[in-house]
Amino acid sequence: MIGGLIRLLYPPKCPFCEKLLQKGESLICRECRNSLPYAGAEGKRSGRFFTLCVSPLLYRDKAREAMLRYKFGSRSGSAAAFGSLVAERVDRELAGKYDLITWVPVSFLRLRRRGYSQSCLLAKETARILGAETDGLLRKRGIRPPQSRLNGAAARTANVSGAFAAIHPERFRGKRILLIDDVVTTGATLSECARVLLTEGAADVVCATLCCRPHRP
Ligand SMILES: [Zn+2]
Repeated sequence: MIGGLIRLLYPPKCPFCEKLLQKGESLICRECRNSLPYAGAEGKRSGRFFTLCVSPLLYRDKAREAMLRYKFGSRSGSAAAFGSLVAERVDRELAGKYDLITWVPVSFLRLRRRGYSQSCLLAKETARILGAETDGLLRKRGIRPPQSRLNGAAARTANVSGAFAAIHPERFRGKRILLIDDVVTTGATLSECARVLLTEGAADVVCATLCCRPHRP
């Protein structure tokens, strides 16, 4: 009954076009499902410390707009639809390659300002669909400028160097980890997180993000 009341007060909308979902549509409207900027072969990249990163969408058009609303417009409800897209791609390409799902953390300050961690919600929704276990394995140290403000792989790598620390390494020692974030560009952030996880005893790290951005060095 509570679920019904919530749907009445807040009818579910498609996070990509913000139209109300019609009967028979679930999480994403039919039109967007057919016209999203799917990444295809481009949604696959490797990094220095992770073997593979998969992303269902390219960071442009409706995907970019929905992501900006999610990050800066308090649309935490979009996580369910985003998680379903990530879970689909993970299931297709990374099944059997991880034991535990974690996420790229945000700083305490940003978490307090935004009220939620976009990558944590995305990881939890993805894991719920895949029936996988999640655990917060990393924390962010101090405050640094957001990666999106920096140009070039070298600047991005330097900015995230030493930015993350492991929490309770005994919980993931010997395990293969699937690391989740919202967007990948150069892979510097994912790589730094993967480096910390591997240094602290993880057996392997693979990654998934909702979107990938073209990377021009
Ligand atoms: Zn739509």
